[in-house]
Amino acid sequence: MNKQTTRYEIIINGIVQGVGFRPHIYRLASFYNLHGYVINTTKGVLIDIEGKSDSADSFLKQLQEGNIPPLSKIISLTYSRKEPYGYSSFKILESVKEEGDITLVSPDISICSDCLRELCNPSDRRYQYPFINCTNCGPRYSIIQQLPYDRKNTTMHDFVMCPDCSSEYTDPLDRRFHAQPDACFKCGPHVKLLDSSGKVLETKHAISAVKELLEAGAIVAIKGLGGFHLAVDASNNNAIERLREKKRREEKPLAVMVKDIEIAEQLCKLNETNRHFLLMPQRPIVLIEKKDDMPLSPAVAPHNKYLGIFLPYTPLHYLIMEGNYPALVMTSANISEEPICKDNDETLRRLDGIAEYYLMHNRKIYQRCDDSVISIVKELPLVIRRSRGYAPEPVMLPFRVPDVIATGAHLKNTVCLGKEDKAFVSQHIGDLETFENYKFFLETIRHLTDVFAASPEIIVHDMHPGYLSSQWAVEQSLPCMSVQHHEAHVAACMAEHHLFENVIGVSFDGTGYGRDSTIWGSEFFIGKPGLFLRAAHLDYAPMPGGEVAAYEPYRMAVAYLYKYFGSDWLQYPLELIEYIGSKKIRNIFSLIENRINCPQTCGCGRLFDAVSSLLGIRYFNKYEGQAPMELEMLLRHKDIECRDGPMSPRSKAQIVGADPCVRHQRHKALEDNDNSHYAFEIVDGACLVVSLKSLFADIINDIVQKKDKSIIALLFHNTIVEIIKNICVCLRTRYGINNAVLSGGCFQNKYLLSKTVDELESAGFMVYCHQQVPPNDGCISLGQVYTLACKLAGDGRDNPNSLSL
Ligand SMILES: [Zn+2]
Ligand SMILES: [Zn+2]
Ligand SMILES: [Zn+2]
Repeated sequence: MNKQTTRYEIIINGIVQGVGFRPHIYRLASFYNLHGYVINTTKGVLIDIEGKSDSADSFLKQLQEGNIPPLSKIISLTYSRKEPYGYSSFKILESVKEEGDITLVSPDISICSDCLRELCNPSDRRYQYPFINCTNCGPRYSIIQQLPYDRKNTTMHDFVMCPDCSSEYTDPLDRRFHAQPDACFKCGPHVKLLDSSGKVLETKHAISAVKELLEAGAIVAIKGLGGFHLAVDASNNNAIERLREKKRREEKPLAVMVKDIEIAEQLCKLNETNRHFLLMPQRPIVLIEKKDDMPLSPAVAPHNKYLGIFLPYTPLHYLIMEGNYPALVMTSANISEEPICKDNDETLRRLDGIAEYYLMHNRKIYQRCDDSVISIVKELPLVIRRSRGYAPEPVMLPFRVPDVIATGAHLKNTVCLGKEDKAFVSQHIGDLETFENYKFFLETIRHLTDVFAASPEIIVHDMHPGYLSSQWAVEQSLPCMSVQHHEAHVAACMAEHHLFENVIGVSFDGTGYGRDSTIWGSEFFIGKPGLFLRAAHLDYAPMPGGEVAAYEPYRMAVAYLYKYFGSDWLQYPLELIEYIGSKKIRNIFSLIENRINCPQTCGCGRLFDAVSSLLGIRYFNKYEGQAPMELEMLLRHKDIECRDGPMSPRSKAQIVGADPCVRHQRHKALEDNDNSHYAFEIVDGACLVVSLKSLFADIINDIVQKKDKSIIALLFHNTIVEIIKNICVCLRTRYGINNAVLSGGCFQNKYLLSKTVDELESAGFMVYCHQQVPPNDGCISLGQVYTLACKLAGDGRDNPNSLSL
């Protein structure tokens, strides 16, 4: 070998399998006339190249500068110089499986523009083929059974490639080179149409038949990428009502799929930001404000000013969206909160009596994965449900962890596998109330540990001993660690931002098991994961009937009013009294007096429930969180998607007196302007407590004076923001901490989040919010892993109790 020959061995880690990485390397090596090989290993992609020194250097530089396929992501790149070997060509070698290190798995990705073009081209051999894909698009996580990502390790192993597909697959210059799910009409999966009894209907063209059925108002179960959807014409009121009744989903908003961005424009108020999120290859459902004259049935999203809207993401969806309807309701195929159906037989069984037809196919789904849902606040995504398109991409951690499983919360459950410096948060699993969801929970733990070759050494779970996720954890023969629910919330947000020093953690949430056997949910913590000190919270109120109160929000209104005013308030002309009746209300009084199933709670979600029903907006929830959501919908604020929306003129925080910890705050002017709010009192002590008596007195006063409900709702929201700001300022004064971390289900409320961020920033805080995982209980498993990570990394960290007071 001559002197100018250079050989590099390069190891790349990240999302590098199933995304066209090796073919890209092949083409790049060919361009620079380099020889050697590339191979997928469980350690990552290994590239061995040699050739002229300047060419080898340029090749390396290209990779370092990010010349990589669109769906890939480099997390680490290491290289070393080697003695030249004398390769005579460049080859892509078969994958090798080794024990030990992990390779990342790409999430499922929407069809790319090249494939879409072929799908619509009558002279292409895959014209209208519903499973067209390439190295840049198609199913990934949902079909992978184990790593490395090769066809034989996916559910595509059932299909033998025809000579045409095979030649594409083996041609390094073809855009389907090593596209594992590559297929065509001749050799790949096919669709079939079945009636409600599961009988296959002989039809020349199943997709055309489905379009006609949908146009006629039928409910059709359609198998997609991570599971089945139930589809109906979104402009057909009758069909939607029928679907709601059968699915037992009375009022919860339904997502709609539209053919393209132009149709989306007709339905919703689009801007540059939400358009960007709609078009992302992850294709999430994006919550966007509806247009007033939207040509869809009002039954799609009643009492809601947002519409969950998404674009087609598989070729099959594109073909179905050609039908004569403005949009399709495409809701997860399940009953109520059960997991989404994925297997053909399972679907026929579980959707019996719901679906009127089935459009199935014979490509198996290995991992079920619901659609992801995001909302947008200040140009950033606010993830509501993290699933398809995102899972199982890891959240990178600043510390390494031993292999650990975190079992998450009870509702909106996700699990998380911690391994090395990565936290693999699972797709949304759902509420562990049903056996089907519990099975899905077990399946997901097994799949994550298998696919990432993990051997868990410890399990982290919620403190609540009654949660199935906690019970499963302690039944395993492994060491366990429990983490308080709201501390896990704050820890999850800190994990996203690699924070590990002391923070002020604000966890405004529904309910969670507290350290003192009461039910927490409006927590201010000081400290760091594993070492949090509870520094403040809202006042407690009884929760009459326990968990029932979450579904009957009027109970919380009665509980707060009874706590602060006894039965005096019954004299006022309130819709609540009229609707519920004073007899029923007095029954609740006696529940509270006799302490019958009335646990104490300070959950902020329950406070929102109380105010929503006090205003006569919602006395009984048809779905979890409905009362608070409808209270938010009353707000007549302007666009808060944009960073500099007109909603939030930045005003200086107003602190009453020199010491912000005053017992009685002045009641500001109750006008409809951005910063007015109701009164509240901060009761001083080692742990600050916010009394809400003045808040409720003010609200009753405004109701009696017949003030517009939307103004009362605004003033209430502003009060919560003002409370958060005042407490944070107070804690900063006490502890000298300026980082504020926001988490908890209440921060799904766009106004609350946006306004809190504005006010805290105006007061000089560094504010951290969730971006990668939801602020709701979907983040708990990440927080659990991060708490363990911080504890293990934290030798010598100071105790928050020793902070200067
Ligand atoms: Zn493609
Ligand atoms: Zn083929
Ligand atoms: Zn929570």
